[in-house]
Amino acid sequence: MKILVAIKRVVDYSVKIRLKPDGSGVDTQNVKMSINPFDEIAVEEAIRLKEKGIASEIIVTSIGPASSQETIRHALALGADRGIHVEMPESPEPLTVAKILKAVALKEQPQLLLLGKQAIDDDCNQVAQMASALLDWPQATFVSQILINNGRCQATREVDGGLETLEFPLPVVISTDLRLNTPRYATLPNIMKSKQKPLQALTLSALGIDGRVHTKTLRVSEPPTRKAGVKVTSLEDLVAAITTVQLGR
Ligand code: AMP
Repeated sequence: MKILVAIKRVVDYSVKIRLKPDGSGVDTQNVKMSINPFDEIAVEEAIRLKEKGIASEIIVTSIGPASSQETIRHALALGADRGIHVEMPESPEPLTVAKILKAVALKEQPQLLLLGKQAIDDDCNQVAQMASALLDWPQATFVSQILINNGRCQATREVDGGLETLEFPLPVVISTDLRLNTPRYATLPNIMKSKQKPLQALTLSALGIDGRVHTKTLRVSEPPTRKAGVKVTSLEDLVAAITTVQLGR
């Protein structure tokens, strides 16, 4: 069974975001970039399925500028078998990502398309759902457990009220949640080996996708700074303070 994992290159989670002075977006110059944390969990799960003998090949794909290849190399160092880079000046909007993933999936015929539940830069949480609809494959989002047996997949989802378990035939689209696993670190020998693993570059036209943009970012701004709190000395003062805030007095 082949697994296709979608991985996005994002600003590292530990970096304090800076905006471009003209408000056109986030400044990524000289900023540490990493694999999206939920996508690293997806890669780890694919590796575990391969270690259990369930998966035979893990393909990772990233859409974005040439630097995305570093992210693909990182996933190859973790244990993926080969990479596909779809070159674009920057990561496109979720619908285009989903169309590209559909095209790659139809070309590669994986039984499982694994994604992160959301990219931590735009927090869209849309690509997995859109890819599932475009491919007409069943989907399970926010997954914390995956079991695969006899061509069927059982996925446990984290939902507001607790856990929901779904079962469906392969192929499926699954998006990973935080509790699915703890990703491993890449070892030095594996980092060296990853340089020899195949990495194919594809263009949008080779995939037959026009990449038309449907959304336009008008402005990116910092959230308003929080006002300082007040200290109260008694319960009565606390109730009065809360009432004032709630009534907007
Ligand atoms: P989003 O819906 O934008 O929050 O992204 C959800 C998931 O889609 C991510 O965790 C990735 O698995 C995948 N994804 C989004 N953008 C890209 C990209 N440019 N390249 C590869 N995968 C992506």
